[in-house]
Amino acid sequence: MHSKLDCLFCKIVNGDIPAEIVYESDTALAFRDINPQAPIHVLIIPRQHIATINDIADAHQSLVGSLYSAAREIAEAEGIAADGYRAVMNCNAAAGQTVFHIHLHLLGGRPLGWPPG
Ligand code: AMP
Ligand code: ZN
Repeated sequence: MHSKLDCLFCKIVNGDIPAEIVYESDTALAFRDINPQAPIHVLIIPRQHIATINDIADAHQSLVGSLYSAAREIAEAEGIAADGYRAVMNCNAAAGQTVFHIHLHLLGGRPLGWPPG
């Protein structure tokens, strides 16, 4: 169920499922969330399948870092860098993770409440 063979975001990486891609690098890909929770809602994912934050290994450090470099670039391109935005990753059921391929939610374009629900 949570294997890369049956992973929605791996299918987007492979081009088997369409997405509105806004950023691509050797290691990462970003596309607009299909159910946006803010005027700007982009999902930034590694091309490599990693199911949850709990599955991040030391060898993935630069890969995970590259997701934040992507967030910085996309926020600038989308015009939300100066006002501010949120970059957040949910882990497992209690946090509401529904797709088990790690993804950084980049949210902006409106005031964001804190703490989140
Ligand atoms: P999470 O609940 O943190 O696992 O976030 C999963 C996100 O993926 C949700 O915000 C969904 O709206 C989004 N999502 C699900 N399917 C797609 C899809 N085919 N294309 C773009 N975003 C999607
Ligand atoms: Zn995957």
